[in-house]
Formats: sequence, C-alpha cells, structure tokens
Amino acid sequence: MLCGQEKSGTPAQADFVIGTVRKLRGTLNLPGKRTIACSQCLPECKKRRAEFEKKLRSHRIGAGIFFLILVAGSIAYAGFGLRAVLAGLAGAALIALLPYAKYFPEFESAD
Ligand SMILES: [Zn+2]
Repeated sequence: MLCGQEKSGTPAQADFVIGTVRKLRGTLNLPGKRTIACSQCLPECKKRRAEFEKKLRSHRIGAGIFFLILVAGSIAYAGFGLRAVLAGLAGAALIALLPYAKYFPEFESAD
C-alpha cells in the first residue's frame, strides 16, 4: 500500500527489483508485501514512474559517455589497457544504477 487508505487498487508490475525484494523477504521469512496504488494515488504514481524512467534513460546515456571518454582518454595517453576498460565499466555501472536508489515501480493500468 502506498497511502494505506484502501485495500484494493492497482498492483505494481513485478520487475527484477520487486522480484529481488520478494526473494529477499522470503529468505528472511518476512511476510510477502504487495505494492498497491489506489485510484486516487494512481495518477501520481504514474507521474513518479515516468520521472524515474526519464532519470534511468539519462543515466544510461551518461554512463555510456563516461565509459567512452574514460577509455578513449586512456588510449590516447597510455594505449589500450584492460584496466581502463574495467574502470570504465565499473564507473558506468555505478552511474547507470544510481537512479535505483529512488526506485519507483510501474503500475498495471486498470482496463
Ligand atoms: Zn492511495
């Protein structure tokens, strides 16, 4: 529940984040939790999901640019090196994953 006002509503779409959380809770023997948006909250939830997706896209582009600049720069200075590629990949992964700190689920649209 997002606002706790209603017992029924639109459930969050299971993706790998929600799947991981469920698996973790199962491992820890915690009761399963469902994320539900009621009809009043749904428009706000859709908006927040759209913002999350936008951030995700821009971070992926940023990660790609970071990787290219780092690898191209190190090739220019020291020639091709595996360490520069690995450092670029690690940095790019960090940038791409940063938006997940503010993860927001997608909600199934009520037909
Ligand atoms: Zn609500």
